[in-house]
Amino acid sequence: MSTEIFTGTVLKAAGGFYEVDVPGHDDSPFLCSLRGVLKKGRKVSTQPVVVGDNVRIRALETSGANAKGDLLSEGHIEEVLPRRTQLGRSRFGKTNQITVSNLDQVAIVMSLRDPDINLHRLDRFLVLAESNELGAVICLNKTDLLKKRELKKEVDAVRKIYEPLGYTVLTASAETDDGIKELRKVLKNKTSAFIGSSGVGKSSLACAVQPGLHLWIGDVMDIGKGRHTTTDVSLHPLKFGGYIVDTPGVKTVALLEVREVVLPQCFPEMRQFEQECRFNNCTHDHEPGCAVREAVEGEKIVASRYESYQKMLADQKAHKPIYEKEGNSK
Ligand code: GDP
Ligand code: ZN
Repeated sequence: MSTEIFTGTVLKAAGGFYEVDVPGHDDSPFLCSLRGVLKKGRKVSTQPVVVGDNVRIRALETSGANAKGDLLSEGHIEEVLPRRTQLGRSRFGKTNQITVSNLDQVAIVMSLRDPDINLHRLDRFLVLAESNELGAVICLNKTDLLKKRELKKEVDAVRKIYEPLGYTVLTASAETDDGIKELRKVLKNKTSAFIGSSGVGKSSLACAVQPGLHLWIGDVMDIGKGRHTTTDVSLHPLKFGGYIVDTPGVKTVALLEVREVVLPQCFPEMRQFEQECRFNNCTHDHEPGCAVREAVEGEKIVASRYESYQKMLADQKAHKPIYEKEGNSK
């Protein structure tokens, strides 16, 4: 048996085989099966290895074909390293479980025009990131559609709200490559997912970041609709280091849906005020002595952010998810 051991990242899982990327090894991943010891150790219903896992593999001297027919070096997964994070959900039975581990951040893509930027929607995406304890980068795309002056005005307004909260705000154009270098910098050596409404330019940006990278995230098919919904998550390696998550057939945002969202905790600016509310179960909505509302009145919390909070709170009471299918609205 070969003694060559590598550490890599699981890019894809299908039919009991795993494609594992070993940076610096080769352009193509290893095709791996699981060592028996890994299969036995856990319950059948839980997945011992998921996309995104860091694994130790033993290289074999053979090669085999993956589902696409590419010939890949073979290996055995011997060990799964501890997961930093894991996302996933199972709805409509186990078959629709989509899951990925070790995601670091989401790049929330908003276009400045076509469609116009929508701060309320941006807040919803940020709450999804916060509730999953993921980093979030705001990427304002289609800068080419604005005149210099209006661009500065609009971008400054966004920066003024979101940078003090700790979010990075980038501008980009997939059309002219404006800001793509900076985008590469924030993606480097991290595992990231592009999220955002359809048409904002997620697929175009991915392609600008790395020519030839074609994501399926533009698909608007919703999970649970129709039987042939695919829910396979996969990772695409970036040549400069790092990975982009792809979710064919499902909106990437489906990855981020968690059942219990504690809304005030997902608003960084509220965390510092809420201890001062008169009632310790204050919802910061109508209660007297609410320090959060006082902060809104004193302009220490931005009004549009608080409005987003109120809308999400109302949705939560009505048992609606943080993010719903968009229909025809912007
Ligand atoms: P996705 O649904 O978020 O993946 O969006 P796409 O990448 O499919 O882009 C939606 C549309 O916007 C396409 O017609 C793109 O050509 C266009 N688009 C994407 N990025 C830009 C950009 O930076 N500038 C302009 N003018 N158009 C863009
Ligand atoms: Zn309060």
